[in-house]
Amino acid sequence: DTAKSEFVSLASHQLRTPIAGMRWSAELLLMDGAESLSKQQRRYADRLLSNVQRMANLVDDFLQVSRFDLGTRILQPEVVDIQKLINDVVGEQSLMTSSKQIVVERHVDDSVSEIVTDEKLLRMIVTNLYNNAIKYSHNGGVVEITYFREGEDLVIEIKDYGMGIPVEDQSRIFTKVFRASNALREVPDGTGLGLYIVKKAAQTLRGRVTFNSSENVGTTFTVVIPLTLSV
Ligand code: ADP
Repeated sequence: DTAKSEFVSLASHQLRTPIAGMRWSAELLLMDGAESLSKQQRRYADRLLSNVQRMANLVDDFLQVSRFDLGTRILQPEVVDIQKLINDVVGEQSLMTSSKQIVVERHVDDSVSEIVTDEKLLRMIVTNLYNNAIKYSHNGGVVEITYFREGEDLVIEIKDYGMGIPVEDQSRIFTKVFRASNALREVPDGTGLGLYIVKKAAQTLRGRVTFNSSENVGTTFTVVIPLTLSV
């Protein structure tokens, strides 16, 4: 298992550079060639870019999973502005929210501004959960992001009113590559790695992640992490 994880880690790491090269070229083609490309060429270039992006995300997920499995991640606690982090994540995914006409509601606790944690891991958690909330929502749905302080912890809730998780699948959704039956049927694009990464990241931050879900009603994921991570 270790040898396998080491191979995945190395291969994913090595694949990042050529993928970045392909992405830049596709972006340049779309930017510089905006007028000279025919409609059809533009469509091909758009498709090229979105598939390269998907490949980059996949390779990133493989790399994260192998790092958790190998235990090679070094925690780097720093001061994190939680409101900014959430605004960044919401901003990064605004194309997806607007294309699905999702309404995003933010409920913030003004008494918490800065926390001490590993920013990369927290970003990974919020990005994956928020991305799922959008992905598994119906067009025109609502996604709510809430955070508040509870004693010495920070609680983050990400709630959607989408397809939900069937009861019989709920015990397995944090398992590597598992996807629920309704997701497999209705949302073909997924790897089943995101929640495994979220769980490992939350544990690494000395926290935990839980959820509540009803099929065809919606899902809420709750992350609890210490306000100050000490290593
Ligand atoms: P992926 O989304 O790539 O399939 P994840 O590991 O992020 O993989 O999620 C695992 C599975 O959990 C998903 O395939 C889906 O069945 C279910 N799931 C996760 N988040 C949600 C959500 N917000 N609403 C409904 N189902 C969800």
